[in-house]
Amino acid sequence: MSQSSLQRVTVLGSTGSVGTSTLDVIGRHPDRYSVHALTAHTSKEALLAQCLAHRPAVAVLDGEADAAWLRQALKRAGQATEVSAGPQALCEVARDASVDCVMAAIVGAAGLLPALAAAEAGKRVLLANKEALVMSGALFMEAVSRSGAILLPIDSEHNAIYQCLPAEHRGGLAKHGVRQLLLTASGGPFRTWSQADINNVTPEQACAHPNWSMGRKISVDSATLMNKGLELIEACWLFDATPEQIQVVVHPQSVIHSMAAYQDGSVIAQLGNPDMRIPIAYGLAWPERIDAGVETLDLFQVARLDFEAPDEIRFPCLGLAREAMRQGGMAPVVLNAANEVAVDAFLQRQLGFTAIGQLVADVLSRPYQGQVDSLDSVLATDQWARQQAFELITR
Ligand code: NAD
Ligand code: MG
Repeated sequence: MSQSSLQRVTVLGSTGSVGTSTLDVIGRHPDRYSVHALTAHTSKEALLAQCLAHRPAVAVLDGEADAAWLRQALKRAGQATEVSAGPQALCEVARDASVDCVMAAIVGAAGLLPALAAAEAGKRVLLANKEALVMSGALFMEAVSRSGAILLPIDSEHNAIYQCLPAEHRGGLAKHGVRQLLLTASGGPFRTWSQADINNVTPEQACAHPNWSMGRKISVDSATLMNKGLELIEACWLFDATPEQIQVVVHPQSVIHSMAAYQDGSVIAQLGNPDMRIPIAYGLAWPERIDAGVETLDLFQVARLDFEAPDEIRFPCLGLAREAMRQGGMAPVVLNAANEVAVDAFLQRQLGFTAIGQLVADVLSRPYQGQVDSLDSVLATDQWARQQAFELITR
């Protein structure tokens, strides 16, 4: 595609936190981007408003009744957006021949199949959905190299590392003179809390992140540090790193978004205000740079940067994720599925905050089939682990 032509973009999960920020950046550059499709799970009113503003060719909702509602509303508004429903329709708008670029911003395992469809179809894939790589990193990376897709990480830490590494960085860190990746973590809202206080955390407290405004699932993951664990696994796949080559650094200001440490002692960091529009604009425009609507970092206002080691006693999820990646095979699939069920139960007040990590550990300790040989085996293990987690919660 030539630099000057209009890129057609599908935004999967457009009504979410990352999806909304993506449309904000796209809206600033009508000369560069047009929207092919917008998708949401059940937020039909929000999707209607986005359709009226961005005029996509297709809109997708999960349920047929919601889709019928949106179809009617768009018709009344005189707009010719086609509306479809269901998971298959998500894959179709991800692989459609007229699409150049797909933002994969659905939360959780539900985002895997459409993200994979975009990768298999050779799109520019802006990957926000970290669960896809956690569940099927090997299959996903294979699909990318087979199709020639351009994979650009949107998770801010991975986007930072991408910016700190040489353009060609596959084949292992050592090959490119990189000793270690330094993955920064804010530490979440309970970084300084005692174990006793952490035991009584409510969903409202867990979702109030100090630096970032995000969806509820990732907010809870940030509070348990499972988010950093999932990101460690994500970084292993994206950058051909081992878990030992990734050091998690708690950095409460969230100004340094991550770093690459080279053999010669150089450490290269990417800094910026904590605003997802920065990695999103980077992904959309790469290798060029465009305005993201974000102010330049004011270092005098930041004034200081602090660093500390993560406390894996109060926050055991990070260690569980590192261990799952070391084990490999299906362990990350089981970790991710159990965590999704646990977080959901916590948000519904059926499970305490510290029980999230305990539940994940309990499901991981049960016997399961180890090898990832196909997407079907991944999906079957995902279902199995969810079932185990439900049983443990309801027994
Ligand atoms: P969110 O909850 O705000 O939005 C999720 C979007 O996915 C919504 O549009 C929702 O309608 C859709 N969705 C949810 N369940 C679905 C389903 N079953 N089928 C189809 N669509 C579904 O989430 P978010 O915070 O925007 O995060 C999205 C992804 O990006 C997550 O994987 C998260 O880990 C990752 N991420 C988010 C941030 C952030 O700042 N929010 C940063 C880094 C990575
Ligand atoms: Mg992140």
